Amino acid sequence: MATTTILDVIRTKRDGGALSEEQIRWFIDGYTDGTVAHEQASALLMAIVFVGMEPRELATWTAAMIASGERLDLSGIGRPTVDKHSTGGVGDKISLPLAPLVAACGAAVPQLAGRGLGHTGGTLDKMESISGWRARLTNAEFEGQLSTIGAVICAAGDSLAPADRELYALRDVTATVESIPLIASSIMSKKIAEGTAALVLDVKTGSGAFMADHDRARELARTMVGIGERNGVRTAALITDMDTPLGFTAGNALEVTESIEVLEGGGPSDVVELTVHLARIMLELAGVDRVDPADALADGRALDVWRRMVAAQGGDLSVPLARAPEVELVTAASSGIVQRLDARPIGEAAWLLGAGRSRKEDPVSDSAGVVWHARPGDSVTAGQTLFELHTDEPSRIPGALDALRDAITIGPEPLDPSPLVIERIG
Ligand code: URA
Repeated sequence: MATTTILDVIRTKRDGGALSEEQIRWFIDGYTDGTVAHEQASALLMAIVFVGMEPRELATWTAAMIASGERLDLSGIGRPTVDKHSTGGVGDKISLPLAPLVAACGAAVPQLAGRGLGHTGGTLDKMESISGWRARLTNAEFEGQLSTIGAVICAAGDSLAPADRELYALRDVTATVESIPLIASSIMSKKIAEGTAALVLDVKTGSGAFMADHDRARELARTMVGIGERNGVRTAALITDMDTPLGFTAGNALEVTESIEVLEGGGPSDVVELTVHLARIMLELAGVDRVDPADALADGRALDVWRRMVAAQGGDLSVPLARAPEVELVTAASSGIVQRLDARPIGEAAWLLGAGRSRKEDPVSDSAGVVWHARPGDSVTAGQTLFELHTDEPSRIPGALDALRDAITIGPEPLDPSPLVIERIG
């Protein structure tokens, strides 16, 4: 067999070809162990951005990323496993009520979550605003909590898909993040390696989403469902709206508070709707059809699992969540109906106030964020509060005010509401 060289691998892709299984495995192993140089890997990634990957090639690429680390085996935990992944959006706190809800219905949710980067928040940052809560668990703690409580939200250990960690860091600094095969293989390698038997993807589309364009969101969803199915994970995707932010809050502790309201049977109707919708599909894929998640949310069973899940990881819900020392109000200049509430500037404002980070080593503020008081279709009167800006540092307020300038449109009549759940794939 001819020896594989990095130049042959790069040339094959540069010239529009498909990489062989041997070339892919050689490259992924070589980049993970440092044999392949960053500049060579960058050249290959850029060629993939332009040329793409065939389904067979992508399946092999993803399998090689999974094989670069350990793949957990959760078959012994005594319940069907099912996880959810969201491509990220503004105010997207759905994982917090969803994981305990699905566990309360009889499945187990092994959620290895991430931190936020840029204008969308990360689940771990939100959970870490709870006093004492610990994101890092050993594999034994993870599996133990899954079998006893049925839900875990924690950080992915270093042993899961290490090739993705290396490649993602390189993509971040070489403008090669925005490639559907690279995004799909990155997300799916981590989810498959965590050992879940089934997976529901919430692929966001709209101004506040990573994939603003609907057609590209659909293509990403189809690609990820294909990878899941080829790797033995029952997978479905929902395409959901992210032109409008979810709920009424963006920011870590603010979103925990809103999630607890949902778990207590109240909370914003869109957050409840999406949580229950995703829970139904997760339970369908897990083969659990005895319980309606809407009941388990309304009657407190999900809240009970949430409390146990948080306590098992050291979280103390009796300690009040952080509150920002500075709160600036933005009021309505005119009366009318809210026609549009734009997710992107709200996410940016929350980030500027300190809720998010621009480099992955930056700290985040627990208490910073934005609260909005009206959603599309609501009537507002001149002078009423539209936004609350929460921050630890007053110097952050002018930038956030600037970001929010065109975030809301008020007009004489309502516009047709856009559906929250746009389409199911798989
Ligand atoms: N999230 C990931 O985990 N990987 C990507 O490539 C993009 C978003």
